[in-house]
Amino acid sequence: MRNVIDFRTGSGNSPGGIKRIQSYEDDSMRMSKLLVPTLKEDPADAEVISHKLMLRAGMIRKLTAGIYSYLPLGSRSLRKMEQIVREEMNAAGAQEVFLPMVQPAELWEESGRWDVYGSELLRFKDRHGRECCLGPTHEEVITDLVRRDVRSYRHLPLNLYQIQTKFRDEIRPRFGLMRGREFMMKDGYSFDATEEGAEQSYAAMWDAYRKVFARCGLKFRAVEADSGPIGGSFSHEFMVLADTGEDTVVSCDTCDYAANMEKAEIRPASGNVPETAGTPKKVATPGASSIEDVSRFLNVPPHALIKTLILKTDTGPVAVLVRGDHDLNEVKVKNFVNAGEIELADERTIEAVTGGPLGFSGPVGLGKVKILADYAIRSMGSAVVGANERDAHLVEVSPARDFTVDHYSDFRSAAEGDPCPRCEGTLHLSRGIEVGHVFKLGIKYSEAMNARFLDADGKERPMIMGCYGIGVSRTVAAAIEQNHDQDGIIFPPPLAPFRVVVTPVGAKNAEVDETAEKIYRDLWDGGIDALLDDRDERPGVKFKDADLIGIPFRITVGKKALAEGKAELRNRRTKETVLVELSSILEAVKTGLENWDSEAS
Ligand code: ATP
Ligand code: MG
Repeated sequence: MRNVIDFRTGSGNSPGGIKRIQSYEDDSMRMSKLLVPTLKEDPADAEVISHKLMLRAGMIRKLTAGIYSYLPLGSRSLRKMEQIVREEMNAAGAQEVFLPMVQPAELWEESGRWDVYGSELLRFKDRHGRECCLGPTHEEVITDLVRRDVRSYRHLPLNLYQIQTKFRDEIRPRFGLMRGREFMMKDGYSFDATEEGAEQSYAAMWDAYRKVFARCGLKFRAVEADSGPIGGSFSHEFMVLADTGEDTVVSCDTCDYAANMEKAEIRPASGNVPETAGTPKKVATPGASSIEDVSRFLNVPPHALIKTLILKTDTGPVAVLVRGDHDLNEVKVKNFVNAGEIELADERTIEAVTGGPLGFSGPVGLGKVKILADYAIRSMGSAVVGANERDAHLVEVSPARDFTVDHYSDFRSAAEGDPCPRCEGTLHLSRGIEVGHVFKLGIKYSEAMNARFLDADGKERPMIMGCYGIGVSRTVAAAIEQNHDQDGIIFPPPLAPFRVVVTPVGAKNAEVDETAEKIYRDLWDGGIDALLDDRDERPGVKFKDADLIGIPFRITVGKKALAEGKAELRNRRTKETVLVELSSILEAVKTGLENWDSEAS
């Protein structure tokens, strides 16, 4: 008898999924046949835990830098993630398409990105000498598709997505699937006739993303992200919370405000500015130019110093002042001055602007450039600043009295304990992994590439777009970063390659083997994807592998318990083992899966 199984979800008769006939005898469900080359030792070139564990669990293998093959277990987890994404996108009204990976340069020239994208865009020529690239993202391709076939407001809104391989020639591919060069992404694009419509499309995707990551069983936060000088909060990143994350999540302990580091706002300090008694005096600070050096040399705390940074912008240099213990936030400055690019000025520019060398800049007497200052400068009484002269600083400088600030604004990065911009609460910093990004694009691409429609009055207008990405392969890795222990992966059940492993143990025994086989078949019939560890191995080897792979539940069938009509059920996360009547195993597994999330917290 062949049993009908949805091979993506493992459920017997789930409607809508792609079905395939799988038999209980399939090699892919039996550990004795399945290609799972587990490793005992940590691979030398793996730095982060998900990379190590995916290699050790035989889920992936590296082909070359940033490019990986997925073995059967890795492929199963990836397919499960894809299916969750697919179901939620479809439920939110998006339509699945599949776009080419190779893209012609002309489209990128039309959008203006051919010259600005940088070396992450892998460019090459075909045999006719035509310039092409491998798609790192698909705004150009989708805009081209839609502009050809959608001409009327009646066909809008439209939301199209695909799940496909992306290629970005990352400068430092590392951390396995977390930052690959070739990786799997869900990218979606919405097209609307009106601003309101575009905002609704955005909100629908935001909501769908929450459902996706909640269904994956992950702890995550949706954080406000920088959307460039357009402003507003029309960009959110979805962050899986994990100490090993590369990104910083800034969140309030009282309200639900959360943002990434680039974007996180800080409530300006209020209160009285202390009077400055003395007048500015020049002091010698030989060789001391960094905040730490000056602070030590003059024996003043860093927060009594002002950092003066000269930045180059499209429209010329500016000086930006932040308190000594604060970090400049270049994105905030960039948005404030509405610049395409900004960077720290080189020594020559600094000398031209300040008359002094690098490391000794200060705002007093600085006449040639605009001075922007962070709000915190306003509350400083007596400060130490550079004297615009080698080996010298000025002390007892009052910002209110001794120099003129052109604009005060929020120019620094949030730090632990800063006041929340939305309420009276306090901001905290934690680590996260960016797994998704939603962005309201507006008419950037539709204007550049002429994607127009006729509105109800017959007037031509550019479509208003949004783009929405999920790192499908990165999410699987992020799930491992968040859920593991010293023995291996602890997969949240929705992303586990199998949710149960059935493990016959002990000396060869027909009854044990037959019972294990029956449990395994009953689980599949009951809609639970199970792996049968039918290898001729010691129990210890089987248990270690099951723990390493992170299968949520292990059912151990042994002679002793079997004599009482029972088998052992073990939870990978809690490590709790219970003896269960053979007849109630399916129920016990289902209950365990349902309670998985509540037991985690
Ligand atoms: P990052 O800042 O991490 O480089 P990004 O902001 O450039 O990512 P997006 O263009 O927003 O990435 O792409 C959408 C999603 O694709 C990201 O949220 C992330 O989950 C995933 N992603 C991006 N780059 C990679 C990569 N090199 N490897 C794996 N996943 C990636
Ligand atoms: Mg992003």
